Amino acid sequence: MIVNMSDGATEAEIDHIIERIREAGYQPHVTRGTQRTIVAAVGSGRRHEIEALAVAPGVDTVVPIAQPFKLVSKQVKPHRSIVNVGKVPIGGDKVVVIAGPCSVESPQQLLSTAQAVKKSGASLLRGGAYKPRTSPYDFQGLGVEALKILKDASKQTGMPVVTEVMSTEDIDLISEYADMLQVGARNMQNFALLRKLATAKKPILLKRGPSATVKEWLLAAEYLLSGGNPDVVLCERGIKTFETETRNTIDLAAVALARDLSHLPVIADPSHGTGKQSLIAAVSRAAVAVGADGLIIEVHPCPERALSDGPQSLDFAAFEKVMRGLSDPLRGIANGNA
Ligand code: PEP
Ligand code: MN
Repeated sequence: MIVNMSDGATEAEIDHIIERIREAGYQPHVTRGTQRTIVAAVGSGRRHEIEALAVAPGVDTVVPIAQPFKLVSKQVKPHRSIVNVGKVPIGGDKVVVIAGPCSVESPQQLLSTAQAVKKSGASLLRGGAYKPRTSPYDFQGLGVEALKILKDASKQTGMPVVTEVMSTEDIDLISEYADMLQVGARNMQNFALLRKLATAKKPILLKRGPSATVKEWLLAAEYLLSGGNPDVVLCERGIKTFETETRNTIDLAAVALARDLSHLPVIADPSHGTGKQSLIAAVSRAAVAVGADGLIIEVHPCPERALSDGPQSLDFAAFEKVMRGLSDPLRGIANGNA
């Protein structure tokens, strides 16, 4: 339930509502706007006690929260959230580009990539240390050695780093080295991981599961917010469909929809979303056109030698070209009357 306070509600009136929400067995979540304050009652409690607050002093209306994801919904927080990763804000006016290799392979590979993507305009560095691979025989990542390489590249370039966490056991260690923790697509509904990350003091990049609906994706984010971590960035990375020409089917409508339903920043991953170098430029532009707050793109000094995801990784020159192309104007629209 949401208690919309009236324009002139006093602090004492707001405090009273917060207290009554607690007494009714719910958790209160307060959002202060420039004009009005919203107090959401989240969890399960005695609903009729909240409904009765419609006549309490300073209350305008009491309405149900329409969506199952409560704290993630725009109804509870109507203005867009900005998530700061180091000094980089995601969700503001500018589109933020995260770039780097799928996997960290060596100090030289990562540092050269970091320097190149920074020069082309990327703001954050990515690189996998613990890799979720479909086959147990594929390269599994360098683990803690990769974390050290990431930290070093971050120090040398000033770029904050994003890396994936696959297990609850690794959260504390990875948090010592990374600025943002990625929940990979395969772990989107690993609820033990989500619950623990809700208490981590790091922003989370939450990828959409390959078979997850938008509602399930936003409910996964709800685990993080309701557990105490408000710093969540959503990432569309493609879903499974009957199509086989692309690795996944990137769902750009879901980027627009997630921004419609939620106040959280939403970015797109054209690399995993297509699996094809040749499609990254076009899909990146399309993602920005539908409102994406950022992009995450795989870049490797020599994609043919990459230990993971070479076919979708760009070399430095191709990445530079994608970055330049992002600001090209869209094609003009023919005017049938002219
Ligand atoms: C990755 O970012 O390299 C990765 C494995 O992503 P996803 O979880 O989207 O497959
Ligand atoms: Mn990858």
